[in-house]
This record gives sequence, C-alpha cells and structure tokens, in this order.
Amino acid sequence: MSMAKRTDPQSPAPHAADSHDLIRVHGARENNLKDVSIQIPKRRLTVFTGVSGSGKSSLVFNTIAAESQRLINETYSAFVQGFMPSLARPEVDVLDGLTTVITVDQQRMGADPRSTVGTATDANAMLRILFSRLGKPHIGPPSAYSFNTASVKASGAITVERGNKTKAQKATFSRTGGMCVRCEGRGAVSDIDLTQLYDDSKSLAEGAFTIPGWKSDSQWTVQVYAQSGFVDPDKPIREYTKKELRDFLYGEPVKVKVNGVNLTYEGLIPKIQKSFLAKDKEALQPHIRAFVERAVTFTTCPECDGTRLSEGARSSKIKRISIADACAMEIRDLAEWVRGLKEPSVAPLLTALQQTLDSFVEIGLGYLALDRPAGTLSGGEAQRVKMIRHLGSSLTDVTYVFDEPTAGLHPHDIQRMNELLLRLRDKGNTVLVVEHKPEMIAIADHVVDLGPGAGTAGGAVCFEGTVEALRAGDTITGRHLDDRTTVKETVRESGRALKIRGATANNLRDVDIDIPLGVLTVVTGVAGSGKSSLVHGSIPADEGVISVDQSPIKGSRRSNPATYTGLLDPIRKAFAKVNGVKPALFSANSEGACPTCNGAGVIYTDLGMMAGTATTCEDCEGKRFDASVLDYHLGGRDISEVLAMSVTEAEEFFGAGEAHTPAAHRILERLVDVGLGYLTIGQPLTTLSGGERQRLKLATHMGDKAGVYVLDEPTTGLHLADVEQLLGLLDRLVDSGKSVIVVEHHQAVMAHADWIIDLGPGAGHDGGRIVFEGTPADLIADRSTLTGEHLAAYVGG
Ligand code: ADP
Ligand code: ADP
Ligand code: ZN
Ligand code: ZN
Repeated sequence: MSMAKRTDPQSPAPHAADSHDLIRVHGARENNLKDVSIQIPKRRLTVFTGVSGSGKSSLVFNTIAAESQRLINETYSAFVQGFMPSLARPEVDVLDGLTTVITVDQQRMGADPRSTVGTATDANAMLRILFSRLGKPHIGPPSAYSFNTASVKASGAITVERGNKTKAQKATFSRTGGMCVRCEGRGAVSDIDLTQLYDDSKSLAEGAFTIPGWKSDSQWTVQVYAQSGFVDPDKPIREYTKKELRDFLYGEPVKVKVNGVNLTYEGLIPKIQKSFLAKDKEALQPHIRAFVERAVTFTTCPECDGTRLSEGARSSKIKRISIADACAMEIRDLAEWVRGLKEPSVAPLLTALQQTLDSFVEIGLGYLALDRPAGTLSGGEAQRVKMIRHLGSSLTDVTYVFDEPTAGLHPHDIQRMNELLLRLRDKGNTVLVVEHKPEMIAIADHVVDLGPGAGTAGGAVCFEGTVEALRAGDTITGRHLDDRTTVKETVRESGRALKIRGATANNLRDVDIDIPLGVLTVVTGVAGSGKSSLVHGSIPADEGVISVDQSPIKGSRRSNPATYTGLLDPIRKAFAKVNGVKPALFSANSEGACPTCNGAGVIYTDLGMMAGTATTCEDCEGKRFDASVLDYHLGGRDISEVLAMSVTEAEEFFGAGEAHTPAAHRILERLVDVGLGYLTIGQPLTTLSGGERQRLKLATHMGDKAGVYVLDEPTTGLHLADVEQLLGLLDRLVDSGKSVIVVEHHQAVMAHADWIIDLGPGAGHDGGRIVFEGTPADLIADRSTLTGEHLAAYVGG
C-alpha cells in the first residue's frame, strides 16, 4: 500500500485557517527566548528552523509541549495531583489554542534487555494472540508465547489469619508463560572466561591470579584463597582435584582464619561477580573496565538459541513458522507472510497486525526484525519506531512534536518520512517539527525561523511564513536553503589503509574493504544498509581508534559540560588560589553545595509511572551553591555566575585578564571549535541533544593521541550554516595528521569527502555490500548507486 495514495490530495490549502485555528504564543522567555510571540496554524505542518542554540527546543519543547503537559496534569483531581510532580509554568505570558501535545523524540529506548522492537510496539502482543488462536499444537493462552512471562506452577500451604486464629490452607497457583528458563527471556547467557582470571599452569603461591590488583602476595583477597585450607596453595590450579576446583570456584561464603585474622572465604566466581560485575561498568577505572570486558562473555543462550522462548512456545506453528521464526524475520517479509494468512475467524486481528507491520515498512524500517533489542536502535530508528503507534491512532486534533525526524535518513528515505508527516497532518493533527534538512523544510505549510545567532545572540523570531517567502527573505536559513556545494577540485591522497577483511557483522556480506588513512572518508548508504555494522562492528577498537557516537553519556544529573570535559578542575583551582580557600568549596557536588537541594539546583520528583520532573530549588534559586560560597569571586564573578556563562563568554573570560587560566581556556577553545559556543557550561548534560552530546565527546577527545576518529552522523542538530563550521573542524583534524571516518547523509559532507564508501544497495538482507568506493567526483560521474544519483542532483541543482 503506497503512502502517496493515502495522502489526501484534497488537503486544505495552507493558511486557509481562520483566527480560531491558531496556537498563539505571546511573550515566551524560556532559556534564551526574547519575548517571542508567534501564531502557529492548527492542522498544518510547521517547521522550526535556526542555527543550533537559537532557541527552537526552548520554544517547541520547553514552552509549547511543556505547557500542554502541565495543563493536562492540572485536570486530574487534587488527590491524584498530590502524586504528580508540580510542573513549573513555562516563562510565557499567554499561550492559547493549545491541544494535547504528543512528543516523538530521539530519546533512545530503555536499555531493558527484555524490550524489543516487537514489545515496544503492539506487534508482539498481536502475534501472541494470533499464535494462541491458530498455532498447532495448541499450547494455551497468549501469555504462553511471551518470553516475558515465566511458567509458574506452585502449590503449598499458605497461612490464613482469621480473627486471632491462624490456620494453614492448601493453595495452588499456576500460570503458563513462554519464557526460556535458562536465560530468563534474555536470549543470551553471560559466562566468566576463567582464562582471564588465572593462569592454571601456576599455583596460587606462584601468583596464578591475573585479576587486576590481585597480584601481590601480601594482599588479603589472595591470601584468603591460599590459606583457606580448601586448596593446596603450592599445586598448579590445573592439577586441582574436582572437590578443590569446586570449592575454589563456587564455594559458599564461610568464615576462615588466616594468620589469626577472621575473614570470609567465598568461591572465585561469586567473588568476582560481587566485586567487579555488580558495579556500574562506566564508573570503573579504565584498566578494570577492560578486565571486566575481557572476562565476561555473552553467548547466545544454548537452550533457546537466542529466541528467548521456551521449547513449548517454539513448537507451536502456523504454516511451519513459530512465533520465534516470525520475530526473527525482517518485518517486510513478515508482513508478506501475514498477508498470506487467510483466516476469517481472526480477520480483524490480521488486519490490525497487517497495518502495524505495513507502517514499519512505510516508515522505512522494514529491514528491522521484531526481535531486535530496543536498546540497540539508533536515535533516529527509535523515533521512527515510536511514530508507529501514532500512525495507527485514530486520535485527531493532537499536536505532534518531532525532533529532527530525518536524523539517520538517507536522502532517499526522507521522501517517505515527509509523506508520513503529511499524513498525520491530513488526519487533522497539528504537526510541529524541528528540522534542518532542506528536503524537509520544503514541505512545510508554515516556517518559523529562530535566530539570528545562538544563545544570547538568538532567541528571536527572524521569519514566519511560507517556504517561498523564506527563500526570498534575508535570513541565514533562507540564504542557505538552496545552498549547493560543489565537490572539491582536488582530494587528499592516501598511502596507508585500514584493512577490513571478511566482515560479517549483522547484515554485512563478507565485506573486504580498505579504508584510506590520513583523509576524510565518508560512509554512506540508505538506513539499514550496514554503515554502523561496518564502522562500529568491524573496525578494530583499539587505542588508536576513537569512536564518537551519540549515545547517552553516563553520569548523574549533576554532570554538565564543565564537569564532563574536566573544565571545572582548573576553574575551581583558580577560584581557590585567588581566594585562599579549598578548591572543594567550588564544587556543587561536595562541600560548597546548597544544603537544601544538595547542589542539584532543583528538587527532583521521581515517579515510577510518569516522567520525573524538576522544580527549581527555592533556597539557592537554582544556583546550586551555599550562599557563603558566592562571596568568593574571580575576575569579578562568583562560581555560579561562571557556570551560567556560555562557552563563548567563558572562553573570553578565561583567555586573558584577571581570570586568565590557560588550562581552562584550552578546553573552552575546543568546545568552540566543535560548534558548542552557545552551550551554557553548567547546563545539565541531560538537556543536551544527541548531536550536542556527540560534539561534546568529540571536543573531549580532540587532544587525544589517537590516529583514527570515527563519527556517527555529526551533522545531527546542525543548521546548514553550522555544517560549514563542522567541515572546517574535520579538515583541521585531517590536516593535523588524523584519519577521520564519518557515517553521514548530509550531502554537503559527502561532497566534501576525499573518499566515499557506499553501502547497499538496499537495507537489511538487501544491503551489506560495498556498492561504490572512490572519490565523490567518481560517485557522481558513475551515478550507479542511489547515493550517486542524489549527490549528482544535489551538486548539479
Ligand atoms: P536549539 O533547539 O535551537 O538548538 P535550544 O532551545 O536548545 O536551541 O537552546 C537555546 C539556548 O538556551 C542555548 O543557549 C542553550 O544553551 C540554552 N539552554 C537550552 N536548554 C537549557 C537549559 N535546560 N538550561 C540552561 N540553558 C539552556
Ligand atoms: P545503517 O548504519 O546503515 O543504518 P546498520 O548497520 O545499523 O545500518 O544495520 C544493518 C543491518 O543490521 C540491519 O538489517 C539492522 O537491522 C541489522 N542490525 C544492526 N544492528 C543490529 C543489532 N545490534 N542486532 C541485530 N541486528 C542489527
Ligand atoms: Zn534462553
Ligand atoms: Zn538549592
């Protein structure tokens, strides 16, 4: 079913709306917004543009979406509200004409290993019903096909209290689930690789342990094993008797006396599990983290072969296909299989399932399988999966808010995304999109351009109106809308290459490729063609390679660009030196913290069932510090004022004069270099977008000695004008002797490459091959691939 057919060609003309059909924002002042007043037509597609940091998110997410959520919360009874976070009203004078807002963002899906593409949508639930009705043999209710439900059969005595008498009563309980008992529905089992723990040709006395920190003879942990009496300390481990080995590896905790001291003895495996594996991996020291990564191996569960399902659940089939087989198929193939099931008894179910699966295909995700762990999806893929629910929804008059829906999409895929957004609009919804790609801006009914610059230099509406008017007008966005870069006259030559041989990660078809070093290489291909599989799954990850992606940065809500980049250290020291006090005072995470909010600046309300929210601490007014700390100054500013500076301001402040701090200045320069000059240095990391996080990581790694940088779509979140700056940065990296490999769809970046590697021709099993390698000029001349055609049109246009 093609989408074009579903899109109503008779959709009302833009701007036909009368004044009753407007969302009116008057006097918005969130973050950098300067008293913004705009009118947004309802049931139309409005695109918000502007350089990054200009205030798009502040207007769309922090004002419009936030107020809608707050108003919805207010409709609950006082009793229910008591359990809900009280949301602060956004800084805005008037907001009217709001409808319910649904935000579809790029937040990755939870890292819950039991969540899959199928469970995150309704697809698995529908398949379970289907199998419980049609599967042969018949094995029970839908839950019998669920890997998240364990089979339980319990019977025994329960005590019942009646008045002051208690009496035992027999009870039985049973439930049929489909969970594989071996891996508990995870599909994988973890194993500890014993060869990483000790050298079995040695005895404990000879120093058999190879665990970091477990070397020294005098160390208690080691002594407990040697002196426990359970094993012979002078016998090589490989010569242990069965009993010795069992006690050594799995012994239950017991008290032992070693050299007169009472200690606890426990088998090596549980000991390792407690002392290394139970801890947050990201928080470990790098060499210990490396040990944990070596020692713990995940293998496909041998019992269920990775399907997560019990044997019973897998035995029940429809036309020779089990539910596990169905979930392992690429969704587009599954859609065809379901289409072939003609079964009047379940016709409505088949229709609903069919529609959901078709939505995946239409949205460009037909190459995924339902059993794909949700945590492994990219930000763009996650956003499109979340869209699936809404496409099928019959709600109308909803305001949908999207954050860069084209992230991760090849020019070829953008067309399809555009059709989906128009379809949502044509169902009677208001669609608000923050977006940079000209291909998407082009379909807007209405454009709101924010700027002109970032941070304090932005926050104003530079333009409102149609795309034609934007093009004709004189804003940065308007001027760049029809930008066409040309390919470079000369490209850099490379002598060396990173050789990849026989790569088979995910869909890769035994790929052999030489990635040239010392140049800018761009890896292209439609979504799902295998780009990430190639650069993340096949490039050897050693010290020479730095991979900078958009994944969330681990750390507390107190982390901010200053703490993350190490900038805060020299700043604290400079404050301490000038004022003759301890550096720790200037840390909102330690001594200097406001006692009311413990230095968070906000009071968090966490609710299991709803997204938690933050309200500003009334004591320190969000400044995070104890009032006494704010009496100390550096260059005329207190620490909270410094943390409220943008990177650009701070770069000037620490660059010269009274506050001159070279160590801080160096870090700030790098942040400016990656285009983050507008970020506030004390802004919580949780408020950064994926693209901003990536550029922050890049800035942190710029001083590293690594030779190869691998970047994943670094233009995400960047305005056309920002892209030029990014290209300059990549050039500087290459000119300083580094090799840069980027996965990108932005055509300006492709055109700027020295070398292009194009994967395809399609997605999933239709991709995974190298369809082109060479210079951009050759790619255009060839026009033999989708990327080549699009790039030719782009530079030619
Ligand atoms: P855009 O979406 O156009 O990239 P934003 O609305 O995210 O821009 O940011 C506008 C300005 O507000 C920037 O200077 C940014 O650093 C600042 N800002 C955004 N979110 C916060 C926040 N939670 N706290 C403080 N400053 C913020
Ligand atoms: P691209 O980066 O070009 O969008 P990917 O390398 O992410 O493509 O995906 C290539 C193929 O491999 C797709 O069919 C995708 O579903 C599959 N794939 C990618 N990552 C995983 C994973 N972690 N587990 C299973 N399949 C995956
Ligand atoms: Zn299993
Ligand atoms: Zn406080």
